[in-house]
Amino acid sequence: MTRPSAGGRIEVICGCMYSGKTEELIRRMRQVMIARQPCRIFTPRLDTRYSEAHVASHTGARLEAMPISSIHEVLANVEDMHVVAIDELHFLEDSAEEIIDGCQDLADRGIRVLVAGLDQNYRAEPFPGMMQLMAVAEQVDKLYAICVRCGAYATRSQRLIDGKPAPTDAPTIVVGGLDLYEARCRSCYEQAP
Ligand code: ADP
Ligand code: ZN
Repeated sequence: MTRPSAGGRIEVICGCMYSGKTEELIRRMRQVMIARQPCRIFTPRLDTRYSEAHVASHTGARLEAMPISSIHEVLANVEDMHVVAIDELHFLEDSAEEIIDGCQDLADRGIRVLVAGLDQNYRAEPFPGMMQLMAVAEQVDKLYAICVRCGAYATRSQRLIDGKPAPTDAPTIVVGGLDLYEARCRSCYEQAP
């Protein structure tokens, strides 16, 4: 595609941790801002690693964002917006159905909806909301990190506790950085005990 549709659309940016999802979201939103299109960025309140009022990549790039807990807060805050971005979608507390319905509703209103998030949890299982959103999206980009073990492309987020794979019954959402998560490829990824 050489030219995005003038109407509403859903774009999904997915991949493992450190794959550059937030960097890509910021890159696209900077273009939107240069084009002076009315836009707003949302970020889950849960992700407080850097700053509540910003989306921030691991490289330090950041843009102002509105903290939210639910997709319903997005729907309530998009009046006159042409472009809406949601970072770290997997952190929202809504069900997959609520996420799909919310994003479809936004796109049906003519809004360009950019969504970034993990496609798989630390157990290498798909995140239901992200998985279903990919099926209905106009555009899906899957990014890769570099495996810290072998240097191949990494597609999985390995959660570690004292250097060992976190057990399968650990909570799905634990916010953390390089001390807690490693990007790994399929063959270096260790199944949780
Ligand atoms: P994501 O949102 O996907 O977690 P970010 O956009 O926040 O990713 O950060 C991506 C940046 O993380 C890269 O540009 C790179 O500087 C850094 N990084 C740290 N570890 C890795 C890794 N193993 N592979 C690739 N990039 C990494
Ligand atoms: Zn590897």
